[in-house]
Amino acid sequence: MGVNRTTVGSLVTDLASRGLVEERLPPDNPGPGRPSPLVGPQIDGLAVLAAEIATDSLAVAVVGLGGTIVVSQRVSRPRGFRPATDEIAQLGRLVRGCMAEVGADQRFFAAGISIPGLVRRPDGFVRLAPNLGWRDLPLADLVSQELGLDMPVLVGNDADLAALAEHTRGAGVGQADFICLWGEAGIGAGIIAGGRQLAGRDGYAGEVGHVTVNPDGRPCRCGSRGCWETEVGEEALLRGEGEALGREWTCMDSLLQAAAEGAPAATATLDRAGRWLGIGIAGLIDIFNPGALALGGVYARLYPYVRSAILAEVARRTVGTSQGPVDIGPVVLGDDGALLGAAELAFAPAIEDPTAVPRREARQPRPQPARTAVGRHTAAQQQGGEAEAQRTA
Ligand SMILES: [Zn+2]
Repeated sequence: MGVNRTTVGSLVTDLASRGLVEERLPPDNPGPGRPSPLVGPQIDGLAVLAAEIATDSLAVAVVGLGGTIVVSQRVSRPRGFRPATDEIAQLGRLVRGCMAEVGADQRFFAAGISIPGLVRRPDGFVRLAPNLGWRDLPLADLVSQELGLDMPVLVGNDADLAALAEHTRGAGVGQADFICLWGEAGIGAGIIAGGRQLAGRDGYAGEVGHVTVNPDGRPCRCGSRGCWETEVGEEALLRGEGEALGREWTCMDSLLQAAAEGAPAATATLDRAGRWLGIGIAGLIDIFNPGALALGGVYARLYPYVRSAILAEVARRTVGTSQGPVDIGPVVLGDDGALLGAAELAFAPAIEDPTAVPRREARQPRPQPARTAVGRHTAAQQQGGEAEAQRTA
């Protein structure tokens, strides 16, 4: 950076006073003289709350700087529309549980929430979340009221946030142009173009699931017909389209199990899905010319079965591959991509301007919070025994 040692020292001291970095001695110090300390993110100095509202699960985490999940909890439930008031109340309960676990000393900077829908970023207003049944919902305000905490609440689209996380620490690292295709009940794309997230005028860019690919296709929840989502969304997969029409699977696990056993109806369903996925992905590649494209959510699990069909369609339909093939594959961060992206969203203002983080008193050593399996059982019981709760520390 061309700054002298004294300037570096004062900048590091300033960042440390805000709980953003800490200095450690190097593990071994072979040379003579005073060793130069190593500077790294202070994981427990400043944290954010992250939440992911998905159609089939609700997850909450305390995440430290550097993407470290300090404590998290994910509750699974059947897919379906959910009243926003119930959802926000449950989110509040999970947040309070996680905060109790990390202890009262933990400082929080902001909260970030991922949802499968159209979000107006500046005020966290949800315009439409078709697979939750939400429309025109001031989600950031409602969550702020529920939590009653003195911190900003930021809301983002799940595919956008998964792309942000994968771009920072997953399949898109080092790629200035990267697409993360995120499939749950619907499909969205998070697009990084020229190193920046593509948002569009209102923040709604990337709703690739509602691009018409089959004008004679089925009606879509968005009100249109033959959207990409109606051809390769989870509902279409479980319904068994084309050669496997009429054959229904109860869940993605049963479809994948049948495919693993070589059941012709399952294989035909996945071949068909792979072709439609490949057709859409080829279009995205031609429009955005990405260096890498990662498939996440449901599609990460599906990928081994649809890979060859996708690659065949992409090879057949794309025009601009002179600079080498696009690196296509599953996401690296697994199912936590959108959750980790929500944490990145919450940290973003602190990264942009570290002076937005208040200074604090000198650090006091504090005991590690207890993280035991007892909490998991308690959470599962709170969910009526039906839901599955996971906890990682
Ligand atoms: Zn649609």
